[in-house]
Amino acid sequence: MKKLRIHIKLTLLISVTILFFLFASCSLRPIVQSRHMLGTEVTITIHDFNGPMQGRDVLLAIDAAYEEIRRIELMASQKELYKMNNLSGVSSYLISDELIELIYHAYDVSYETYGAFTPDIGPLVSLWKIGKPEERVPQNWEIQNALEVISVTQIQFLDNGSSFLIPQGARIELGAIAKGYAVDRACEILEDAGVTAGMVWAGGDLRVIGNKNNGKPWRIVIRHPRKHNEFIEILNIWSGAVATSGDYERVFEENGHKYHHIFDPNTGFPSDASISSTVIADNCMDADAYATAMFVLGPEGGVNLANELSVAAMVIAEDDGELLIEENEKFTRLKEK
Ligand code: AMP
Ligand code: MG
Repeated sequence: MKKLRIHIKLTLLISVTILFFLFASCSLRPIVQSRHMLGTEVTITIHDFNGPMQGRDVLLAIDAAYEEIRRIELMASQKELYKMNNLSGVSSYLISDELIELIYHAYDVSYETYGAFTPDIGPLVSLWKIGKPEERVPQNWEIQNALEVISVTQIQFLDNGSSFLIPQGARIELGAIAKGYAVDRACEILEDAGVTAGMVWAGGDLRVIGNKNNGKPWRIVIRHPRKHNEFIEILNIWSGAVATSGDYERVFEENGHKYHHIFDPNTGFPSDASISSTVIADNCMDADAYATAMFVLGPEGGVNLANELSVAAMVIAEDDGELLIEENEKFTRLKEK
């Protein structure tokens, strides 16, 4: 009887110890969750968290991070922004300070990138409808009309706190920056909750928290723009965010020609300057927007801009089936040897 009791006690002790290691420090096995959001699969991986945090707190923190991503997705598409856009040239609309800040930041990035990234691009996005069932190649006059609206788009922030977008038909588009912002906010929420090592990955954009595996860098695989399931580069990064824009992400074919979702604001057509661009920056919001801008600028212009902005970047174009790859020194230094 005594032996049995000792045996039960021992078994209990071992179980509690195993549970402790599973939940108090998850360095043994990461916690991974994936949910469909932001038009892609968003994966949150937790590798480690601090002492007072318990396993269930981690799951709650992951839920809160996903909720935040959903909130930002709605704010920057269906809800506030959508309503303001629909009232362009007609009346002002009250949007949140947070959205105003995001729009301001988008205009700053537009300035930094010589207009290659611009939140004014909305009329072109609505016209082409790429990724939607109604996607189509518009008539030339429609593209010219959209470009005209874009060239005079202005957002006025009124004294009563509301915003007035002009002219009629103007539309602010945050598709190339809001995903990065959502990833940043999700990381902040996880960190505030006590996560010390992890990653939020949303399609082509990701940000890391802390270090994985006792001070080793994160291995980030950059996909090959032309060969599915193959990678073109592996990076070792210690912190920050990586964003990739590619012409393979959202694309449709008409009369043997492929049309993708990243527009050249000068022509009104999908940019043919690149096939993919990758940027590593301190935060995902900037990495996301810069990657889109560098795609439009092409390998040479894109990498020059990366040097001006002091970020690591690789921009790839294609010529007759051959890849033309440009990268700056900052990027080369991150490549796995
Ligand atoms: P990304 O995949 O981050 O490069 O973002 C592409 C999305 O950004 C598109 O689906 C459009 O919604 C929007 N977009 C396309 N072209 C531009 C551009 N030149 N500047 C800003 N946003 C753009
Ligand atoms: Mg982007």
